[in-house]
Amino acid sequence: MSNEAYKGIFVFAQQVDGKLSNVALELIGKSKALAKDLNTEVTAVVLGNKIGHLPEQLGRYGADRVVIAEDPILETYTTEPYAHVITEIVKKYQPEIVLYGATAIGRDLAPRISARVHTGLTADCTSLEIEEGTGNLLMTRPAFGGNIMATIACADFRPQMATVRPGVMQRLTPVDNAHPVVESFSVPDLAEHVNVEVVEVIKKISEKMDIQEANVLVSGGRGMGGPENFKLLEELADVLGGTVSSSRTAVDAGWVEKDRQVGQTGKTVRPNLYIACGISGAIQHLAGMEESDVIIAINKDPSAPIFEVADYGVVGDAMKILPLFTEQVRKAKEEKSNA
Ligand SMILES: Cc1cc2nc3c(=O)[nH]c(=O)nc-3n(C[C@H](O)[C@H](O)[C@H](O)COP(=O)(O)OP(=O)(O)OC[C@H]3O[C@@H](n4cnc5c(N)ncnc54)[C@H](O)[C@@H]3O)c2cc1C
Repeated sequence: MSNEAYKGIFVFAQQVDGKLSNVALELIGKSKALAKDLNTEVTAVVLGNKIGHLPEQLGRYGADRVVIAEDPILETYTTEPYAHVITEIVKKYQPEIVLYGATAIGRDLAPRISARVHTGLTADCTSLEIEEGTGNLLMTRPAFGGNIMATIACADFRPQMATVRPGVMQRLTPVDNAHPVVESFSVPDLAEHVNVEVVEVIKKISEKMDIQEANVLVSGGRGMGGPENFKLLEELADVLGGTVSSSRTAVDAGWVEKDRQVGQTGKTVRPNLYIACGISGAIQHLAGMEESDVIIAINKDPSAPIFEVADYGVVGDAMKILPLFTEQVRKAKEEKSNA
């Protein structure tokens, strides 16, 4: 089949417990822009059991069409049944592009499907665009520890496949009354594909706000000196209605939990306000936060690279500045509420 015969952009819409992952909606948003360049449509592919409520939601966020595959075996994610069904969907519909979130599930799934349909896959992309003239998908990802950005194309094979880093692309504002075309995929007998039994799913509930959802992040690095000083960050985060995040060094030192880590091997965040305290601004850290609307840096070293991306900077000791900062915000809030 020639490349031209493959049509449309497909997004694997990951859901867990009947709830769509944020990255699925982000990918649909990005795909809409790509589809415009290619003059084609966006199809969300969703697998699970009793997930009839999801197509409408996917439509609200921009999916033109939804292919839904339901089966009790698909209720909880396992590699083989999911890989089999998506491979069958790809073979049936012959899309031009297939995108997955670079989540634990997406990273497990995508390489298996690309191998089965014999095509190329780029992992953990942070930028996607359509090349003028060829119409190829240009997939850009950080490589060599973030020191170079590699742009990769898959010119000879279809579909072009990529996993995309959560938090980088933006979802669209949902519209009311979306009516995507919904197609039920008739799931083949999966019994022979079940080679793993899920005994128990253990969920760790964090009382803290997800750093990717927060509008304000107060972030600490090695310069905070120790875990005891993170309460200074928490106090500021509290008055600003945000939460605490960190650099990898603080995670490696055991001062904060891994789910707080911002950066290339942590999470990508895009809050309205990012306050970097005692963080030098290594490229791997910047990769996760430089798209924040406003960045404030507090650092002892005036030549720290964090100041290159900061909108506002304070050169000084974070341990002294943070309590003053928190106090001023508290006062300003009180004055406002008394006014
Ligand atoms: C493959 C790879 C992936 C990586 N992924 C990530 C990632 O996802 N996220 C990440 O963050 N890093 C990541 N790193 C690590 C990264 O290269 C840096 O080592 C790390 O970001 C540094 O953390 P830091 O800024 O907290 O510490 P440092 O670089 O040690 O900086 C500490 C800063 O605090 C300042 N300081 C010291 N005392 C004070 C004080 N009292 N008040 C104010 N400022 C003070 C210092 O001037 C300094 O600038 C990765 C590295 C590699 C190789």
